[in-house]
Amino acid sequence: MDKIPKVKRSAIMAAVRSKNTKLENGFWRDVKKLNPKGLARNVVDIFGCPDIVHKNKKLVVFIDSCFWHGCPKHLRMPVSNSSYWLKKIKGNRQRDREVSRRLKSNGWTVLRIWEHSLKKEITRKRIITYLQNSLKTRIGRRNIEKK
Ligand SMILES: [Zn+2]
Repeated sequence: MDKIPKVKRSAIMAAVRSKNTKLENGFWRDVKKLNPKGLARNVVDIFGCPDIVHKNKKLVVFIDSCFWHGCPKHLRMPVSNSSYWLKKIKGNRQRDREVSRRLKSNGWTVLRIWEHSLKKEITRKRIITYLQNSLKTRIGRRNIEKK
């Protein structure tokens, strides 16, 4: 029954735990204040399962964890099993690009933000303002913080 290798299973568990962290919950509370109608989170029926979605505005937001998505500033590669992690994180990044590409080609505005940008009040506010504008105008630019 249990055919997932131990290391992989713990990775999956960690990924599950990484959903809805405190940071994300706080961010979501701020986002909700903007325009509660039509906003949803962790939408599983949209390709890539975005963290935040506004279906009518065709806007999706992904909050990428610094570890799992290989943030150039904060990724500390684990010492043990490093080749496994490298492969895993590379795979995640590839999938991120594919998800963004596919959503964009279907007319979605895709916003990817690093988890770390939610930690700073100033970048967090910029993201909120950006979202607010995007929700008003529907279409916005893609990058807030260079990624
Ligand atoms: Zn980071």
